[in-house]
Amino acid sequence: MTKWVYCFGDGKAEGRASDRNLLGGKGANLAEMSNLGLPVPPGFTITTEVCTHYFTNGHTYPPELREQVGEALKEVGRATGRRFGDPARLLLVSVRSGARASMPGMMDTVLNLGLNDVTVEALAAESGDPRFAYDSYRRFIQMYSDVVLGLDHDLFEEILADEKGRHGYDVDTEFSAADWRRVIAQYKERVESELGHHFPQEPEEQLLGAIGAVFSSWMTPRAVTYRRLHEIPESWGTAVNVQAMVFGNMGDDSATGVAFTRNPSTGEKSLYGEFLVNAQGEDVVAGIRTPQNLTEAARLEAGSDQPSLEKIMPAAFASFVEIADKLESHYSDMQDLEFTIERGKLWMLQTRSGKRTTKAALKIAVDMANEGLITRGEAVCRIDPASLDQLLHPTIDPNAKRDMFATGLPASPGAATGEIVFSSDEAEEMKGRGHKVILVRVETSPEDIHGMHAAEGILTTRGGMTSHAAVVARGMGKPCVSGAGTIQVDYRAGTMSALGRTFERGEVITIDGSTGQVLNGAVPMTQPAFSGDFSTIMEWADELRRMKVRANAETPADARTARSFGAEGIGLSRTEHMFFDEERIAAMREMILADTSEERRAALAKLLPMQRADFTELFEIMAGLPLTIRLLDPPLHEFLPKTEEEIAEVAAAMGVEAEQLRQRAESLYEFNPMLGHRGCRLAITYPEMAEMQARAIFEAAIEAAQKTGAPVVPEIMVPLVAVASEFSFVKAIIDAAAKEAMNERGVEIEYLVGTMIELPRAALNAGEIAKEAEFFSFGTNDLTQTTFGISRDDASSFLDVYRQKGIIERDPFVTLDEDGVGVLIRLASDNGRAAREAMKLGICGEHGGDPSSIAFCESVGLDYVSCSPFRVPIARLAAAQAACRARLDG
Ligand code: PEP
Ligand code: MG
Repeated sequence: MTKWVYCFGDGKAEGRASDRNLLGGKGANLAEMSNLGLPVPPGFTITTEVCTHYFTNGHTYPPELREQVGEALKEVGRATGRRFGDPARLLLVSVRSGARASMPGMMDTVLNLGLNDVTVEALAAESGDPRFAYDSYRRFIQMYSDVVLGLDHDLFEEILADEKGRHGYDVDTEFSAADWRRVIAQYKERVESELGHHFPQEPEEQLLGAIGAVFSSWMTPRAVTYRRLHEIPESWGTAVNVQAMVFGNMGDDSATGVAFTRNPSTGEKSLYGEFLVNAQGEDVVAGIRTPQNLTEAARLEAGSDQPSLEKIMPAAFASFVEIADKLESHYSDMQDLEFTIERGKLWMLQTRSGKRTTKAALKIAVDMANEGLITRGEAVCRIDPASLDQLLHPTIDPNAKRDMFATGLPASPGAATGEIVFSSDEAEEMKGRGHKVILVRVETSPEDIHGMHAAEGILTTRGGMTSHAAVVARGMGKPCVSGAGTIQVDYRAGTMSALGRTFERGEVITIDGSTGQVLNGAVPMTQPAFSGDFSTIMEWADELRRMKVRANAETPADARTARSFGAEGIGLSRTEHMFFDEERIAAMREMILADTSEERRAALAKLLPMQRADFTELFEIMAGLPLTIRLLDPPLHEFLPKTEEEIAEVAAAMGVEAEQLRQRAESLYEFNPMLGHRGCRLAITYPEMAEMQARAIFEAAIEAAQKTGAPVVPEIMVPLVAVASEFSFVKAIIDAAAKEAMNERGVEIEYLVGTMIELPRAALNAGEIAKEAEFFSFGTNDLTQTTFGISRDDASSFLDVYRQKGIIERDPFVTLDEDGVGVLIRLASDNGRAAREAMKLGICGEHGGDPSSIAFCESVGLDYVSCSPFRVPIARLAAAQAACRARLDG
């Protein structure tokens, strides 16, 4: 019989941390903590397999589930000395989701389950605190109605607000037991009037309802969006954790909080967290009350007059510190913890690897390696390569004038400028129209995920460092200021005000997520310098990786940037980019429009010195590092004048009739230019062009070598080859140009001639091409385009739909399609190397900067990847991780 339910608690568990796929992250770690003997409220986990069953069988459960849940409930009863549904020995439970990958706040939770009109009295008697008991019951009705019965949360908030108003109370804590009883009566009436039936009183019915609701929450639009953004497969499903309730709201010796074992913003090694006295977990996350600091040190630093946990509950605090240390070394990683203190007794509700900024991730990885907790290889593998992008966030120029009108918490680093918007839909819509926006909310909720994604930065007026806005913004790498309490937001009027100043929707503000400042207008920014930890990780990565990392660059500025980021050469110089400035495009147009070879040569003679100068500078900057230059590739009409005005202008400059020019341009028109007269086809129809480029390359190489004293070995690359004879034809032109240049200058230089592999036919015939080609560079942009038969310029119109409908998991232009394009690459690599042992293999399509594609390149044994200069650090790290993992696998 399949086991669908796993118990934990009381110093033992049926699962463990490695059962994450089956038990979800939360369930697996609750089991692990129980096995470690930590104080975890007893409970059980319903596996992710039940979720899969639920969705593939028309929202029904496996037949054995009910019985297994019943048994598990009895087990929890034994561990707690209680019984579910029994008012004499009341057992209440929480029901929480817990997917394999953490999806903070995305799915539903129900607390205090098991309360009804009878058991609430038992809770009142047992706790000796009727106010607490009725408050718990009304919270339960509200949460259950929202999550399970589908009634809007606001229906109940209205009742609460009315009651508060009637009594003139400011906060919920002023309610008496009798007040709460009245609220409960109204809540129940509201359920009846909305749904036509009573609020469910039967605990078992409540439990099954809640379990179903948690499973269903896997498919809510916000969860679906979150998974799409984080590439979490739909098929994973969530587990459900049912656990004995412990109460952080049983008075002033009770509390609930969250903590990180190290600072998630800076990585500093100090316990970092927040808590609320007399509260349930939802209160901390909701950010309704401002939380207090855990430690005295943090309290002093924040200048808060609210006492720390260390001060007011020293015994519970001391146990917590001990447990936090234990968990951090057990998992060898910074942990994100949730805890509750019930009448002085500490309970652990969750541990997981904590989300962190990139800056913190680098510091923690380096520190932990230095502390001997992890190896250098593990440290390198701990950093998400894509997250290095976060380091490129601008910060406010220290000399800039700041017109500050509010401050909040520095919730997620970096600065951002944009127009104020007050809703997520508006943020998305404005972004779609090309505006940069700052999303301003009182607080954010998971419904705001699309708005946060669209915004440059997020500003909230409520909530702490662990509020939804702060956690999600850090995960996204977006600047965020949270809890800027002096700002009053008026959603209806579309304004916000602070310090007597009012700002309207659309006005520009700047937020500084590193200091918490909110500033009027746009402020000058500076690009950040990389930290010492970044350099350390990069150094370690460089020691570990096998593949070289080159950059795609053609301008001197890009080549310099590439080198400063650690590029070990240039893998692709697209020479066409050199022909677009005014002087050059005129000569280029003359060349294209010429009727005879002589006329073409005359135009090319003007371009030659310019090309030579370009290449000389690049060779000098690269100072002996390899440099791959590609011959002209794009369809020629890209260079031609388009509008009547342009045609007239060019005709005048060339001394020809506008009409003649127009006709020539028309004759070059193609239905499918990307499959047309481009690539090596240009060199075959206009050999003069390839001749000129090859000469410029050789003359430049000779010149640069003489200037710098470093030998230059140019690598000349022929684009869009399909058949070996195309390559031979162009190679002969290049070899002839080399001979001429060397004879003229009286020097010998080495050079390589190779080809792009960017058409399926070339990949299939790589062995034949390799007889003459000395290197292959996989042009995976064109290779993806031609393998799929999808236009790389127009695909976005349907690829998004493809992803949403699950036809494809990832955009093949972003992440290499291993099952199709990858098969061609593997075949071409094997056959290329079989024909020529020393064959150099690289990749220069966009995939060369994508971490998972880089891992594939490692598995094929490519010699290098080449990517845009700003992705070079990402590629260095990803290549090191791929090498480490390959070593582990092999
Ligand atoms: C490619 O096709 O992958 C490539 C690098 O060339 P381009 O993008 O210039 O066509
Ligand atoms: Mg290409």
